[in-house]
Amino acid sequence: MARIGFIGLGNMGGGMAANLARGGHDVRAFDLSADALARAEAAGCLAAATAAEAASGAEAVVTMLPAGAHVAQVYEEAVFAAAPAGALLIDCSTIDVATARRVAEAAVARGLAAVDAPVSGGIAAAAGGTLTFMVGGPAEAFRRAEPILALMGKAVIHAGPAGAGQAAKICNNMLLGASMVATAETFLLARKLGLDPQTFYDIASKASGQCWSMTSYCPLPGVGPDSPADRDYQGGFAAALMLKDLKLAVKAAADADASVPMGAEAMALYQAFANQGQGGLDFSGIIKMLD
Ligand code: NAD
Repeated sequence: MARIGFIGLGNMGGGMAANLARGGHDVRAFDLSADALARAEAAGCLAAATAAEAASGAEAVVTMLPAGAHVAQVYEEAVFAAAPAGALLIDCSTIDVATARRVAEAAVARGLAAVDAPVSGGIAAAAGGTLTFMVGGPAEAFRRAEPILALMGKAVIHAGPAGAGQAAKICNNMLLGASMVATAETFLLARKLGLDPQTFYDIASKASGQCWSMTSYCPLPGVGPDSPADRDYQGGFAAALMLKDLKLAVKAAADADASVPMGAEAMALYQAFANQGQGGLDFSGIIKMLD
């Protein structure tokens, strides 16, 4: 049993902290929201009064926060000073690659170890302990993070050095966003050309157009396995979060001088969808805008 600080107990962090407590760890949890903190307490965590208190005496500190600015602030204002020498910082938030690398470097300079470990999988996977973690950091820090992350996920993969987890996450989600838009417009075209959607699905899922956005998560209701499309696009992965990840990918591409025309177009389409007030719908709901 290890003492673990957990900061950020929202939709994702709440379930993840509960899984660490269920795994037998002494979890000292903190969130700015009193409701989130009360839920974590009910799930077996000990409530800390501040982020510094959560980090104090911890062997590892997990963060699950909205964006890079929050992670940098919590690290710089609380965790760096409060965590004991040698403690391992595990940031599971989805943040920009540049901030991930900068905070990891700052952590190491203070005698701490750090990994970025963003996740694939939504709120249900966080609660069920079936997330996939993509981890960036030195091999020794990965070795220490792995058993902790394994309590919250079904797969823990070492992506490379600091920032590589975030790079893998945004590259994966850029491909997902672009392939969802392509799947949605293709099904709409197929229907306009007089094809029965199920017949087209049966053909394309066995032909070279096959992709996850179609065969696991078809944006057209009634086609393929059960997905948010069958629940009027409720639940699943919010379009607003897809937009966030596409923005991170397009920004990282600009920093790396990489050309991502499809990623940029997907970002523009999800921005337009969010501007229509639809950011709370599952990201496959983009088909409603394209129709
Ligand atoms: P959320 O907004 O539900 O939770 C974030 C929590 O952080 C909130 O409870 C908030 O009160 C807390 N917080 C903010 N600033 C804080 C501070 N300074 N100190 C302490 N607590 C603070 O967000 P979420 O959906 O849980 O997402 C968390 C991260 O996971 C994000 O980076 C998101 O992109 C990523 N992610 C989310 C999903 C998803 O489906 N929701 C999936 C994959 C990855």
